[in-house]
Amino acid sequence: MKLVYDERFRGSTYAQDNAAIPGRMEAALSGLGDRAWERIAPVAATVEQLHLAHDPGYVQTVVEDPERFAMASLAAGGAILAGRLARSGDPAFACVRPPGHHASRTGAWGHCTFSNLALALLVLRAERRIESAFVIDFDAHTGDGTRDVLAGWPQAEIFNPFAATAEEYLELVETRLGATGPTDIFAVSAGFDAYKLDVGHKLDTPDFGRLGTLIREASVRLSRGRRFAVLEGGYYLKDLGANVLAFCQGFAG
Ligand SMILES: [Zn+2]
Repeated sequence: MKLVYDERFRGSTYAQDNAAIPGRMEAALSGLGDRAWERIAPVAATVEQLHLAHDPGYVQTVVEDPERFAMASLAAGGAILAGRLARSGDPAFACVRPPGHHASRTGAWGHCTFSNLALALLVLRAERRIESAFVIDFDAHTGDGTRDVLAGWPQAEIFNPFAATAEEYLELVETRLGATGPTDIFAVSAGFDAYKLDVGHKLDTPDFGRLGTLIREASVRLSRGRRFAVLEGGYYLKDLGANVLAFCQGFAG
């Protein structure tokens, strides 16, 4: 597995929200330090690429805020790089911010500026490298932006699991992945705010590992192992590193 990351994601002045708080990226990465996963720095998404997912007028409003645009286009570029690595056979995790799954075609919302994961899929489709995709979003919140941006693409299936307990949640994921057919790539909106001490109050650290394992196994079975994940939420910094590590260990295999 490859880790897509850039030191610039440590910057915390591009916005004032929970995703932008100082120390969050350091926390997310803290568990991964000693692993052998190669780190690769992305290049920023271009305005032309961003137009695949977003209304040009909206993109322009972000361009006019240079610091925010620099960070958000780099995050989008990180997702694109992770998608390309995955398509070429290297599983990848993009540890980026701002997150993306709430950003719609026409606007920012919920700490998100550009629709990072959806854009990565649209770039691969524009390059004729995929025709279908399966998106699983395990953030505590619905990826409404991803749904909006991918709405015109019926072969992009989106799964936002919701259940009352962690046990039911994992059962639901296992059942749905077991019923899924072949697809060109698995794309994961990896939000860690469903953690028991975060806003979602549900999953424990080993549950994130189980999610990673279930998705890896499904992708090996259904998409030739092509899979990538992009960081979304996750605000309980003390345990964020352990949760990211647990997921990545299951996801990488
Ligand atoms: Zn969330």
